[in-house]
Amino acid sequence: SFQAMMIEDVGGKPQAGLKTISLEDLPDHDVLVEIACSSLNYKDGLALTGKIRIARRLPMVAGIDLAGTVVESRAPEWKPGDRVLVNGWGLSETEWGGYSRYQRLKPQFLTRLPDGFDMQQAMAIGTAGYTAALCVNALEDWGHIQKSDKPVLVTGAAGGVGSVAIALLAKRGYQVTASTGRASTHDYLRKLGATAFVTREALAAPGAPLQAEDWAGAVDSVGSTTLANVLAQTEYGGGVAACGLAGGADLPATVMPHILRSVALLGVDSVMAPQSRRDRAWSLLAESLDKDLLAEMTNVHPMSDLPQLAEAIIAGKTQGRVVIRIEDA
Ligand code: NAP
Repeated sequence: SFQAMMIEDVGGKPQAGLKTISLEDLPDHDVLVEIACSSLNYKDGLALTGKIRIARRLPMVAGIDLAGTVVESRAPEWKPGDRVLVNGWGLSETEWGGYSRYQRLKPQFLTRLPDGFDMQQAMAIGTAGYTAALCVNALEDWGHIQKSDKPVLVTGAAGGVGSVAIALLAKRGYQVTASTGRASTHDYLRKLGATAFVTREALAAPGAPLQAEDWAGAVDSVGSTTLANVLAQTEYGGGVAACGLAGGADLPATVMPHILRSVALLGVDSVMAPQSRRDRAWSLLAESLDKDLLAEMTNVHPMSDLPQLAEAIIAGKTQGRVVIRIEDA
């Protein structure tokens, strides 16, 4: 038997807690993985605190990420000993997830651990970091940031998506401005590669539909009025990769930046992203994410810390990325 962080129905409400389970409790999928680590993302915080309903059936093993080693496989493409990772694919929503010593998974969810990353580094990247890479790919595919000499803005800068986005963009030669609500993180963000700062408040208040064209493009993990302002401040022809809702799921915006400045709102989803897009994101990470900076943005915790960590990430109090060590569970 081993430990898993389970969300269960307690009096009609989802409640998370560590439970002892065994291999017989796991779903009957083709690949059994022994998990070394998982991670904490904003969505894990939502799932564990119950702030937004993430688990669509209960009981549910939480954790949208995992890295581990195949132990048994009925699928020809996976063999015992293969080192694998999973990001998203409905883990913690419809499929049992990564906060467990063992998990059985559908073979099509697994990705081979990319060359050059160990399991802890892969989870230090995790869904948040791989999403940051999807955002950078979306901006480069749109094609404007390469031509502009204006900075790229990253909102929610000190969070997981924000930290990795800054490190990637700076390494690839772009000027990066960071928007954060925490002045205490400026030194940290400067180390990652940010060279200028905007306060969170400056972007949170409703603004005019068209504002000064300050940004070549942006990675936005905040949404709501912040995203509306970012669109209004993006220069002619620029693109904004939107992946998050840390500030709210609404978008009180106008069409003006789009119809008068050809600004593109580039939507980014990580959960159901096709394998080819995942492979490109992981290649970008292998090429452009400095391992020392990755270590700088990573904190490692045991599963027993998850309840406090979940509250902290929803309150915007975690910095960078949180790895959850499963090995000792
Ligand atoms: P995170 O580590 O908590 O980062 C979010 C950051 O946003 C915080 O560190 C904080 O940065 C800022 N923030 C927090 N509360 C805020 C508020 N009320 N108003 C404005 N800013 C606020 O979370 P994450 O794991 O990086 O995820 C970031 C967002 O992206 C989440 O909304 C998540 O759901 C989303 N996401 C989406 C996908 C996808 O597939 N589309 C994948 C991954 C993540 P500062 O302190 O620096 O201001």
